[in-house]
Amino acid sequence: MGTTQGSPQSSPPNQHSGKSKASSKCGTALRLGKAVLTALAPGSTAQASETQVSAIYRIRRWFLAFLTVIIVVCLIVMGVSKARKEASSQASETATTSATARPSPRPSADRSVTAPPQAAQPQPVVLSAQDRDNILTQAQSTAAASGKEQHQFTYCIAGKGDVGDTTEFEQEVFRTLNDVHGWPRAGATFTQGSEGTCDMTVVLSQSQYMTTFSGGCSNMYSCRVGNQVIINKDRWDGGTEYWLGAGGNMARYKVMVINHEVGHRLGHLDNEQTCAGPGQPAPLMQEQSMGLLGCAPNEWPLDSELWVR
Ligand SMILES: [Zn+2]
Repeated sequence: MGTTQGSPQSSPPNQHSGKSKASSKCGTALRLGKAVLTALAPGSTAQASETQVSAIYRIRRWFLAFLTVIIVVCLIVMGVSKARKEASSQASETATTSATARPSPRPSADRSVTAPPQAAQPQPVVLSAQDRDNILTQAQSTAAASGKEQHQFTYCIAGKGDVGDTTEFEQEVFRTLNDVHGWPRAGATFTQGSEGTCDMTVVLSQSQYMTTFSGGCSNMYSCRVGNQVIINKDRWDGGTEYWLGAGGNMARYKVMVINHEVGHRLGHLDNEQTCAGPGQPAPLMQEQSMGLLGCAPNEWPLDSELWVR
């Protein structure tokens, strides 16, 4: 690429003009000097007296000395001029070379400098074994401190249909069920088990499969059928207009829907309690996805809902 950029044709066309001017000025001075010397030649003074010849020779000597000085000065000026030209030529060659060389090595360096920062895509926070131990220990302390009958549930996680990676879902279920604001206050704690050992299965299901669990389920909402707690993927991703319109956000919606549906598995019914008044926190078992009825969004069981059947 761009081989013409560094070729000799790119050199300034007036590169040698300074040297020509210096040599032509000196040449003119030398030609004048030679003419004067010829005019003062002894032959032209043949008819002159001895005194006149002596004077002419004196003038000739002085003029030769003067001419010598002119020649030395000319040589110095020409030498300096040439040195300057060479230095200038080298400098421009270096500049041209670096300008030509720049396009190839620079892009990779520029890319690394201007590359956007690592994409800030939210990654699910994967709980370590230690994190899980800490969360469960706190839940057990809360359950023990509740003074209520203790219930230790084991649950499984499953997906139905095209629901993608369930890592975030799995983390959220564990964290929510064992949160000290939630069912542990009713004496319940939850550990994740493997298939065949679980008291319940928490399923993340594509909405179109909701009715395959039961004709009583709707493709619009989440549902609980026996030991299956089924979270509707559309609601998991987008909540409902009622919840979001009342000031709830998606993070809180996910906590609410897990606690509400698992609440059914613990023995609770829909709308067993109603909204106590405008602005009051909605009961967890109120169908908040379908409307708040003047209550404030609430993802945790109220004191009056702290029981497990
Ligand atoms: Zn319900």
